[in-house]
Amino acid sequence: MRQISRRARRIPPSATLRILQLSKQLRREGHDIISLSVGEPDFRTPEPIVEAAKKALDEGYTHYVSSRGMPELRDEIAGKMKEENKLDVRAENILVTIAKHGIFMSSEAILQHGDEVIVPDPGWVSYTPISIFTGARHVPLLAREEDGFEPSIEHLTEIVNGKTKMLVLNTPSNPTGAVYHMKTLKAIADLSEDYDFYVLSDEIYEKLVYGRKHISIASIGNMHERTITLNGFSKAYAMTGWRIGWITAPRHIIDTLDKIQQQTITCVPPFVQMAALTALRECSSHVESMRKEFNKRRVAAMGRVGEMMVLDAYTPKGAFYIFARYHADINSFDLAEHLIREYGVAVTPGGAFGPGGEGYIRISYANSMKNIMEGLKRIEKGISSL
Ligand code: GLU
Repeated sequence: MRQISRRARRIPPSATLRILQLSKQLRREGHDIISLSVGEPDFRTPEPIVEAAKKALDEGYTHYVSSRGMPELRDEIAGKMKEENKLDVRAENILVTIAKHGIFMSSEAILQHGDEVIVPDPGWVSYTPISIFTGARHVPLLAREEDGFEPSIEHLTEIVNGKTKMLVLNTPSNPTGAVYHMKTLKAIADLSEDYDFYVLSDEIYEKLVYGRKHISIASIGNMHERTITLNGFSKAYAMTGWRIGWITAPRHIIDTLDKIQQQTITCVPPFVQMAALTALRECSSHVESMRKEFNKRRVAAMGRVGEMMVLDAYTPKGAFYIFARYHADINSFDLAEHLIREYGVAVTPGGAFGPGGEGYIRISYANSMKNIMEGLKRIEKGISSL
């Protein structure tokens, strides 16, 4: 049989989804597994959102709609981006899509063979595989713990060059929990203007910040002309299974992405869009109470990690992850395997986030306080046993 394409053979499966599936499989086989791996709020989707979807189904929102997204939802999103993110945008600058698909489409739209794309290291598990798919060369941008996991601008200045076409930015950061300061964002913005590269700004965790302010890079100077801003409902509204997010970008980019959307997923299901509309209009207090609960867990989990001899961790300022350095002579993939199979606790190996993540594990605190504490106990035992 003839071979599948080289680019398809080169991309690895998603590390986060692999562990999620393994946890589910081990549970099905009767093992007691605590999952501190995948980044998925444990809360139920707020009731008004669920009700809006049911109503929309009853009212017949079950056919194709505009590939760009329903006009009322795009208007609402544009208003939100204007007010909260300080971006001067209209509905024509918005495309409703699935957030991860939006990263894929944007990368396909901008990158090609011969280009370079700068990706955070450590950075979310899918940025590099998606850039491999485009044929571009990915160049890791180190973000070290001693710098609060913000990227070193000195390093960025060294790696940027005439071939750099795009930089992937993710603040608040998955997996480190860093929330970048204005100084860092301004420096990136300056380099983006000097070297004429796009910024793909993944702001999916914007609502989950603790004592820091989230800044959208597109709001700085003329960055709106060269920034594709990604966001979604999954993390803020506990809507991971609904698969809906949006892109904010200059009109000509949205037009291009719309063509790709038309040729791929057509549109996001309309009853899901109606639910998302209700999320934006009615659920800010739900988001805030989930954020407060995440914050309580963050503080408690960090307190517990602080007592351990086997882990050290930077205090995350956003998202719902602790990126912890472990003290044991084992690589992070083997450690994660050991922890799930021998101690019944799932974590994500730091190495899955790039070479800069080796020596770390990512612990998600998007789980109940009880499970977090039990999970941390198992991690402590599992590492101590080595
Ligand atoms: N983004 C989440 C995580 O890092 C969900 C899974 C995924 O899409 O990678 O765990």
